[in-house]
Amino acid sequence: MTLTFLEARACVCREVKPNMGAESVPLPDAVGRVLAQEVRADRDYPPFPRSARDGFAVRAADLPGELRVTGEVRAGEVYSGSVQPGEAVEIMTGAPLPDGADAVVMIEHAIRSGDRVHIDRTAKSGDNFNPRAIEARHGDLVLSRGKPIGFAEVALLATVGLQSVSVARQPRVAILPTGDEIVEPGEQPQAHQIRNSNAASLAAQVRRAGGVPQILPIARDNSASTRMQIQRGLEADMLLLSGGVSAGKYDIVEKILAEFAAEFFFDRVLIQPGQPLVFGRAQGKFFFGLPGNPGSTMITFETIARAAIERMQGIADPALPLLRSRLTKPFRHKPGLTRFLTANLSADGSTVEAATSHGSGDVVSLARCNAFLLADPERESWDAGDDIQVLLK
Ligand code: AMP
Ligand code: MG
Repeated sequence: MTLTFLEARACVCREVKPNMGAESVPLPDAVGRVLAQEVRADRDYPPFPRSARDGFAVRAADLPGELRVTGEVRAGEVYSGSVQPGEAVEIMTGAPLPDGADAVVMIEHAIRSGDRVHIDRTAKSGDNFNPRAIEARHGDLVLSRGKPIGFAEVALLATVGLQSVSVARQPRVAILPTGDEIVEPGEQPQAHQIRNSNAASLAAQVRRAGGVPQILPIARDNSASTRMQIQRGLEADMLLLSGGVSAGKYDIVEKILAEFAAEFFFDRVLIQPGQPLVFGRAQGKFFFGLPGNPGSTMITFETIARAAIERMQGIADPALPLLRSRLTKPFRHKPGLTRFLTANLSADGSTVEAATSHGSGDVVSLARCNAFLLADPERESWDAGDDIQVLLK
């Protein structure tokens, strides 16, 4: 069955359900994992009305004017008195707003002399402090199951006092390279052979997606070898095959998978590179047959197979890291396929241009570029200055 790019992604997201179970990890190891528990606020946040500035705690209605400074409050202290009309208390960022005050005036906007402070601008009640519980109330849900944990999530987990957290177990992903011409990277290839780069790139991509890669020995383009390695690969939580899914005489991967009573969800996607992409399930395990050209393997993993690893860990809506940028040169493609092309994105992301590439086997161009143009299948040409979608590498 042939699907469009978006249909193929949707199919993966629909078929693959969270299935990894959970384990507890210490907080420093949680980054890159996916939350398997809800996280609730253990108290109000902020727990007290908290000054956002260094300055003076005031009653807004007193301003503009000259006020009497009756004391100071710093972060980690509580002011014992309260701010009366005509008074101000010097306050530091992070300190609790004293009773009676309803605003903080930045120190840059105040002129202090002795115990007086002159402020010649107005203030509004609520200026420059965060009221108690404005971010979250005690008991509020602050992070949901299925949330990928990055640096800010770790900060929130630490804030609510969690030292360890329940995360989805990491899927073990078997990587099975195929091909009679492929040798291991440590070998000296003969003139007609090439080194196995796909296992290395896939292992890196699997790791980045939160999986644990398990690279299998290269399967040769014969039934016995391919059958044996597929059997091993189906022992993992998921199987990625590279190569052997095109229309060539020795592309036997689909045929051997069929022997395992595989259910195929699609075996062709309208993308380039990577059209012959295969997705299915055998012995209860999902597998992808990724076309073997290095560019096809990388792009089909990144844009479609990766979503399966994310779904297994409980991410509800896997998203692609896309942005829009402005082309510096005109660009044409044959419509009908969603096309990914090696590209160079400027440092600030504002402009992009297609990189020189000699096709989807060009590992040099793939390694040198820093992004991919995403040419949508309906459009044929773009002028310099047009916006285009860009997939980050
Ligand atoms: P295939 O999809 O098996 O027809 O392979 C397509 C192209 O990708 C051929 O030029 C292969 O030599 C190349 N290729 C296949 N597997 C790998 C691999 N593991 N590493 C690098 N190139 C590969
Ligand atoms: Mg092959």
